[in-house]
Amino acid sequence: MGCLFCNIVEKKIPAAIVHEDEHTLAFRDINPVAPTHVLVIPKKHVAAMHDTSPADAELLGRLFTAANGVARELGLVDKGYRLVVNDGADGGQSVFHVHVHVLGGRSLAWPPG
Ligand code: AMP
Repeated sequence: MGCLFCNIVEKKIPAAIVHEDEHTLAFRDINPVAPTHVLVIPKKHVAAMHDTSPADAELLGRLFTAANGVARELGLVDKGYRLVVNDGADGGQSVFHVHVHVLGGRSLAWPPG
């Protein structure tokens, strides 16, 4: 079985992919909480933000650059959007393969719940 998002990277599980490059993959969240809700992941398996180190600076840079690119491609940058990374139990992380949520298409409340 393995990691759900690794299976999506390997195309063993279908996803609505909106962007793919050598290092990252972006696909629509199966349970969207905003009109646009996309997950951007590194193709390399890293379980959580707290597992990253300075050695992952390039991976993280590519991840956030890809997230911004997705927001632009999906027409979110004029009105604004939000990037979210949930980490661990208190952070609300449910899938342990690092991912950035790209949320937009409506005005988003702050602070989050
Ligand atoms: P998080 O709670 O931050 O770990 O976010 C995990 C996200 O993955 C949730 O928003 C889920 O709705 C989403 N998700 C779970 N399974 C899938 C799937 N098969 N395809 C797309 N999104 C998924």
